[in-house]
Order: sequence, then structure tokens, then C-alpha cells
Amino acid sequence: MPVAERLLTNEGSTRLGPDPKRPSCGSSPVGIVIWGLSVMSIVHLSAYQLRVDLMTHRESMSTRALAVEPSATLAITAKANQLRAEGKPVIGFGAGEPDFPTPPAIVDAAIEAARDPKSHRYSPAAGQPALRRAIASKTMRDSGFNAEPSGVVVTNGGKHAVYLTCQVLLDPGDEVLLPSPYWVTYPEAIALAGGVPVMVPTDETSSFTVSTEQLDAAVTDRTKMLMFVSPSNPTGAVYTQDQIRQVGEWAADRGIWVMTDEIYEHLVYGDAEFHSMPVLVPQLADRCVVVNGVAKTFAMTGWRVGWMIGPSEVAAGATRIQSHLSSNVNNMAQAAALEAVTGPLDAVVVMREAFDRRRRTMLEMLNGIDGVTCAEPHGAFYAFPKMAGLLNRRLGGATATTTMELAALLLEEVNVAVVPGEAFGAPDYARMSFALADADLVEGIGRIAGLVARS
Ligand code: PMP
Repeated sequence: MPVAERLLTNEGSTRLGPDPKRPSCGSSPVGIVIWGLSVMSIVHLSAYQLRVDLMTHRESMSTRALAVEPSATLAITAKANQLRAEGKPVIGFGAGEPDFPTPPAIVDAAIEAARDPKSHRYSPAAGQPALRRAIASKTMRDSGFNAEPSGVVVTNGGKHAVYLTCQVLLDPGDEVLLPSPYWVTYPEAIALAGGVPVMVPTDETSSFTVSTEQLDAAVTDRTKMLMFVSPSNPTGAVYTQDQIRQVGEWAADRGIWVMTDEIYEHLVYGDAEFHSMPVLVPQLADRCVVVNGVAKTFAMTGWRVGWMIGPSEVAAGATRIQSHLSSNVNNMAQAAALEAVTGPLDAVVVMREAFDRRRRTMLEMLNGIDGVTCAEPHGAFYAFPKMAGLLNRRLGGATATTTMELAALLLEEVNVAVVPGEAFGAPDYARMSFALADADLVEGIGRIAGLVARS
């Protein structure tokens, strides 16, 4: 098959991991959209050319690099931004970030740090000591987990903490239990460390939570770790206290490590509660890595500060890797993070109220669309509607047979960007963020509803 054709069909890409047929999002930074939109015949020549240019170097590239999928969520956001810049009235439900500015006191702390010559120099790879101490105190304040500052490693965002955790704990062939739908980065971070993600599927019948029976069925003697996240991206699921305890005890009894991602700890709604697994299951603490960061709680996605908290030898291993990989996180961003984690939680209270209001509007509007059903999200800022009922029927000028195609169709027909469920290992669903202005949210879902109603 000619290279150009292979590009558009995505043939010839290799993958690591157990699921080489996992729906690919393409191989370029704009891959997901290119692949989907090619169906809609609106591939732009420049983007097409970009893929051709990339492909001419494929043969020289490592299997590792070729196996990594681009982040579908970043790609859809970039595409929506591009269309917006071209003057299209795009409403984006793709963003995984608060639409609020970072609180001023946090910004001021960074500005002050930038004026201090000390910030202009390298600092310890594991993070500034004051920040590591403050993160340990903040963790005790917010989740009740008793972390030692020596166990804290400050990273370039929570994403980097996920990557480092895999690098420190996994050897080639180690299996990692991954409840699905999963956040796009998890399987890639596992595969980059040579690990094998083992998907444990969930759906709305269990509120997108995994049971210990399912874990029992998936565990093998190669299982090294379980990746756990509550509240969850992409489903908004929040495990109950009992469920977290059961999963934690299950892992502790079997000596399986848990990476628990607590980045949405402050974003829970209604009766849902956040609980930290190693607090509920203390015997797990020496086989547990907590991942967290300032991005979601303090509207600081662009600052890139996160952290991992683990047993001190694990933290030391992560520090050794980080010392060669990236050294210290930007000192100004660390100063901002210090202000964030030692300051009040007022800003997140305001954001949470807004998200909760939008969540309820989104849930009601989505469930009012013929062909869409949406389980209630109890945390984070995502709804995960099932959209199978919109497939294989004419919508406007086209018909989608997959949610990947549906995402392209919605962008084309009504300028609405959603992230197709394929990106999260869940075809037939889509992820829609409710971290956008109320009026945009109503307008965007209204456009989908209008398209369905008149088709
Ligand atoms: N974990 C989860 C579940 C997330 O959704 C995100 C952001 N999308 C992160 C970690 C990482 O956030 P950051 O790297 O911006 O700190």
C-alpha cells in the first residue's frame, strides 16, 4: 500500500502491549482528528502533508516511539482551537482543564520568585524541600494520609508522576490492571516502561467501578500493579468508601502495588466523597504510590506541577530517573505550587459550585436527546454519555458508524467537539467536559439536540 494511503488508514503502525487492535487515533499530533475527519473529506492539505513528512522517518524510529499514541484529548482540543482561529463558532467539550484563571496570590508568588536570583539556578531534582514538606502537610490536611517529605517527588505535572511511577516499578512484561474506560495516558505510560496494560472493563451498570471479582478474574502471577483513580477521568465515577477499602485490601492481600491518582480529590458532588486508598487500607501504604498535583484544584494546568508520594526508596528511584530526565521542575512554578498548597481552598469551592451546576444541566440535556443516555457523573468534570443510539443513522448530511466518526461528524455539522470513547478504550461513548461556560455548554448540547431532532 502506498505510504500516503497507509497514513490515512493508519496501517503499518506497531504497538506494544496486549491490544494491538486498540482503536488508533493516528500517528500525528493531529492524528485523531485527521483520521476521523478524513471520512468527512475535510482533511486539510497542510495536516496531510505533516503526516507524510512524519512517515518518511518512520523506518528510523524506535518501536517505542512508534507505539505511543498521541493524546486524543489534546488533539481534539487543538483541532477545536484551530477551527475557532479560522472563525468557526466551535464549542469544545474536549478540554480536561478548569476554565478559571489561577488565583492571583498564586500567580504573585511565581512573579516574586522570578525576581529572586535563587530561582534562576538549578534546585534539587526531587523538588524544593519547602514544597516537599508542604505537600506532605497538605496531604495530611486533605486526605489524612501521613506522608513523609522524603517520599514526595515533585514532577512536571501529574502526568509525569504517572510516567515516573511506571518507570520505577515496572519491568518488561509486568502486567498492570487498568480499569477501563481509562485515562488516555495510563496505557501509554505502562507500555513505555515495558509493562503490559490489562484492561478490566466497566460500564454504567456498575457506575463505571471495578469489583474485586473482576480483579480476581484478571490477575495473573505477572500482575505487578493496579492503576486506580477516583474521581475518574473519563467517567466521573467516584468509588464509595467501602469499594475503595475492598479494592485496597484485595491488592494488599496479594502484594500488588497500587498507583492511586488523587488529582480530582476536591471535585466531588452531591453525596459522593473522596477517600484516599492508603488511608482506608493502611497496610497498603508501603506498596502504594499516590499521584496528585495542582492542575485541577487550583486551575493550574499550564504550570506543570504535580507529585508522587511513595515509600522513600521508590521516591529515591524516581528522583534518580528525574535527575537525568528533566532535573528540577521550574522554580517559579514550584513557588506558585507552594503558595497553592499552603493557601486556602476558596477557589476550588467556587469552581466546584460552577461545575456542579453545569454537571446537572449537562446530564439533563444529554438524557433529553433521543439516542443518548448518560449516567450521572459524581466527580471530576466529565460526563461519559453513551452515544450508540446516534450511530448508523443519518445526522445532517452524514452517517457515523463509530463514535470516532461521530465526533468528526459533530465537529463538521454543528461545530461541536467531543472526545470519542475509543480514546479511552470505550467505543460507543464520548467524553464531554463540563469545565466550560454555562452558556456555551447549553449552546453546544443544544446544537447536538437540534441536529438529532431535525435529522
Ligand atoms: N490524572 C488524571 C486522571 C488526569 O485527568 C490528569 C489530567 N488530565 C492528570 C492526572 C494529570 O494532570 P497534570 O499532568 O496536568 O498535572
